[in-house]
Amino acid sequence: MKLVVPTSFKVLSHKGKVVRLCREDLDKKAKDLCPRTKDSTVGLYDHQTHTIYLVDTLKGTELIQCYLHELIHCILYSTGQDGLSEDEDFVDLFSEVLLQILSSQKGKLENVQIND
Ligand SMILES: [Zn+2]
Repeated sequence: MKLVVPTSFKVLSHKGKVVRLCREDLDKKAKDLCPRTKDSTVGLYDHQTHTIYLVDTLKGTELIQCYLHELIHCILYSTGQDGLSEDEDFVDLFSEVLLQILSSQKGKLENVQIND
């Protein structure tokens, strides 16, 4: 199963971006966005700029897992569900189940072309 981490996407009326940063820059960004952050993180969502930041050492399943986790934050913030977005357990559970479903899909009922 091939899943793609894009460089940009559209969320409601905003253009979202995905940017990879080195560990040092990501930690700096995390401190700027959330001064309470203590532990070093592998991903981050900036809801002011609609940007997902991912550390550049992530690969494979960890990369897509982190992308989906940050994408769930993005969806929740963008739809006014800030409280749910701040619930890391909820976001983790949602993104893990989403990855399981996406990576286990089999068969092709129909091809669907979606316009952008
Ligand atoms: Zn999170």
